[in-house]
Amino acid sequence: ENKGIYKRPQVTEIWEELPEEIPETPIFRKTQHYAWVNIIYGCNYRCTYCIVPKTRGVERSRPMAEIYDEISVLADEGYKEVILLGQNVDGYGSDMDANTNLAALLRKIHQVDGIERIKFLTSHPCDMTYELIETVAELPKVSKYFHVPLQAGNNEVLRKMARRYTYERYCELISYIRKLMPDAAITGDLIVGFPGESHEQFMDTVKAVEEIKYDACNTAVYSPRPFTPAASWDDPVSAEEKTERIRLLNSIISDIAEKQSQRYLGTVQSVLIEGPSQRNPNRLAGRTFNNKTTNIEVDPAEHHLHIGKIRDVEITQAHAWALRAELVQKPAMTSS
Ligand code: SF4
Repeated sequence: ENKGIYKRPQVTEIWEELPEEIPETPIFRKTQHYAWVNIIYGCNYRCTYCIVPKTRGVERSRPMAEIYDEISVLADEGYKEVILLGQNVDGYGSDMDANTNLAALLRKIHQVDGIERIKFLTSHPCDMTYELIETVAELPKVSKYFHVPLQAGNNEVLRKMARRYTYERYCELISYIRKLMPDAAITGDLIVGFPGESHEQFMDTVKAVEEIKYDACNTAVYSPRPFTPAASWDDPVSAEEKTERIRLLNSIISDIAEKQSQRYLGTVQSVLIEGPSQRNPNRLAGRTFNNKTTNIEVDPAEHHLHIGKIRDVEITQAHAWALRAELVQKPAMTSS
């Protein structure tokens, strides 16, 4: 059984004290067509830069039946896509019985009629299992999209961050994802300028980005959070140096994303159309099954025929962060 190569932290191991009040994030529905659904609150990890465990408490999974019922109601209301949410979705069920985990939850939600797409985030490399990856590969409604934060490409920096995995472990997961789903979209998070990060250590992150070839990656210059261990550590690296590092990293990520996007050029993708594009209201914007933002040339008089629908489109241009497309088939002039 693969339950992550590294051991999950035990609650007693990481918590000296629980916060008095643990807020539960309310469900936030962004559009009428997809909905965020919390499946787990809190986090059992204690990354040395992160305030989440202090503010959100330990992991508490919601019962599968409760999530299933909520998603069934969403489907009845017309939602087509659900995004399962948690600080560590891969930890789902670890506070429940042995049969409850994210793979089992995906199988259950997959049965909900009307829900056509399922995504989940954010993953943790320690808890992402091969069973989960196999389940995503197997279930047709689950997007082949993985958001797996790496944070740093250097093992000493990862150790100081208390991330509990190595770069090699991370790469094993990515290789397995790509082995089963060569076309999967993979995104990540990276922190630049963690206290004391040397130039060589930063260059390991650059190398990692080049090896992994992300479709997109969130990057941030490290900034200290009060009450976290790293906030009190010495940091000889100047702000200017950190700005230089993130500039370099972002430009490499952007170049790679542009190349990654090219694989969609000329292909037909199904796009859940969300509404007019923010940049150009004459276009419609939506996302492909693998979560790529796509802008579609459509006569504004016909926008209402497409919003909220999943449409086949042909990709005509591929840029780093978005695709351009044309409808493959125009619908009849009804709104069904
Ligand atoms: Fe948990 Fe993520 Fe914060 Fe680490 S960075 S403590 S895994 S929420």
